[in-house]
Amino acid sequence: MSEQRLYAVPEPLYLELPSSWLPRVALSQGESLTAVKRFLGFSQQKDVDLSFLGMQADAVAAMCGLKAGVFDEAIRVLRLALSLDMRHPVLFYAEGRPRYRFCVECLAGLRTPYFPLHWRFDAYRMCSQHQCLMEENCPHCGAMVCPQQGRGNSGKTRGSQTFSSQCFQCSKFLWDMIPLKVHGIPDRLFIQHEKMRLTNGGAFVAALLTGEASIPNSDETDPGIVLPRIERMGMFASGMKSRAAYLRKKMPAKYWRSMNAGGGSLYSSQLSTELAVNASIGDPDNGTLGPSEISRKEWENVSKILNYWREGKKFSRG
Ligand SMILES: [Zn+2]
Ligand SMILES: [Zn+2]
Repeated sequence: MSEQRLYAVPEPLYLELPSSWLPRVALSQGESLTAVKRFLGFSQQKDVDLSFLGMQADAVAAMCGLKAGVFDEAIRVLRLALSLDMRHPVLFYAEGRPRYRFCVECLAGLRTPYFPLHWRFDAYRMCSQHQCLMEENCPHCGAMVCPQQGRGNSGKTRGSQTFSSQCFQCSKFLWDMIPLKVHGIPDRLFIQHEKMRLTNGGAFVAALLTGEASIPNSDETDPGIVLPRIERMGMFASGMKSRAAYLRKKMPAKYWRSMNAGGGSLYSSQLSTELAVNASIGDPDNGTLGPSEISRKEWENVSKILNYWREGKKFSRG
């Protein structure tokens, strides 16, 4: 790679994480991820998604023969997420390594599998499109998912991991599992307000995309103020009990039988914005359902943002 620029580099897909795009670049060049990162000026050690924020994105685009501004939207949303005064707006391990989740059905259905940046948001624990819990582990070997291993030098045998949809450790397809549909989770494991909190993960993403989040009786529309406030109200999913790995172990066998037999959920009702509007919220800390302190109007506003996400933004390939 002695040239000044690369040729035939794939464009980043909608909201694609740099950690997902770089391996695709490496594959397109027949080079190692390390060589591509070095050529483009990425640090070898750091979290590439975050280190990209400190780089000249348009210079990287130019070196790849891509038009200026191609990374702008992803950078804007990631910056905004990181700036939020919240517990874990963006996923990391304790030692600072990046952490990811994925939707089984999204990964199986994407023509070019990739990791969009909202898969690194802690509040986004349920796919808004498929209503299934986001997963963190390979179903075959249990490895924590990570898209940024170099294609060609990872996988079970050298070169056997080609797509983001493959486990970096065992090379098998990550989507090769039965998704954990929220409506199939029994209420004893997962009380109703937990399902609403999961729904709000979509609203969280929508607020970051639109740059707006409104709450009644307040003129405030700055997501930087509104989203932390919503978190303090306990309206975003958090903790072990809304994680797929935990719930998978607790699920009754009939769920898996049902999914295997018909591919359908045990529960036919669709998760809708009405669920969020009509339900009452309890105190998430003591787990009891009680009268809501959040007005119906307030829910409607969150739902509006959610609708924006569902209808317009999800995986639209512009
Ligand atoms: Zn999905
Ligand atoms: Zn694996």
